[in-house]
Amino acid sequence: MLPILDDHAHLQTIGAGSEAVRQFEKAGGTHLIISHASFAPRPIFTKDDWRKDYGFTTDICEEAGRATGVNIYCVLGPYPGDLFDLQYNSDIKVEKAFEIMKIGVEVAAELVKEQKAIGIGEVGRPHFPVDEQSMRMSNEILLSCMEKAKDLDCPVVIHSEHVNGSNLEEFTAMAKSVGLKPERIVKHYCGKLDDSWPRGEIALSVLATRENVISAIQQDLNFMMETDYLDDPSRPGAVLALTTVPKRMKQFSKDGLIDERLWQKIHVERPRRSYGIDTENSA
Ligand SMILES: [Zn+2]
Repeated sequence: MLPILDDHAHLQTIGAGSEAVRQFEKAGGTHLIISHASFAPRPIFTKDDWRKDYGFTTDICEEAGRATGVNIYCVLGPYPGDLFDLQYNSDIKVEKAFEIMKIGVEVAAELVKEQKAIGIGEVGRPHFPVDEQSMRMSNEILLSCMEKAKDLDCPVVIHSEHVNGSNLEEFTAMAKSVGLKPERIVKHYCGKLDDSWPRGEIALSVLATRENVISAIQQDLNFMMETDYLDDPSRPGAVLALTTVPKRMKQFSKDGLIDERLWQKIHVERPRRSYGIDTENSA
């Protein structure tokens, strides 16, 4: 049996946690990459605060890994929206939030070094319009994540506005400017892509709807599959249920839309190249 990886989901302490992972396993899933995100605004100022915050994610992943046979990896980093959420009160201005975000990058890099995480993510810039200064700061934070990733030889998972004709080139140029291989960049939350856009080496993590996956196959994109499962009790099954990727793979394989070679590419070769994980021998 070939491995099945969902390369972008979340687990929350207040969510279904291990039970959601059990369902994923029952559906045939074998590997998961869990991305840290802050779901409730919380005061963070210091390195210790960040360690505690990332600890929620690493702890729940360890717990779900023990409770199931699924191989779970984490990516950690300051979520782009944190630049705003960290401004809890009027005393905290954007400059201060920016400094706190940079501490978050440093701690994430330390945890990658300590092998608590395999990469930095999800980081980048808000998917909603923001003022110029916040955008500049977000790009600066992203660039420093790429610098750290270059030193650590680890991936960077990008959260940003939707993929378009120019931002893939922009992210590629940013990575190259710090010496990071573009193949180490994963653009999270890709929808249907336009085949006129330039194809770089950035890995596209496609939200695993039927339509998106078919389009990615037809265009022969360098893609992996994600649910961006939020594990949010107030939005169960959002963005997609954690069982989606295994179910999609099995159905598409049965329908002849995915053969063994393509399966291997999506769930073994690309994860190895982008994330540095071995899904073949860890299951
Ligand atoms: Zn996410």
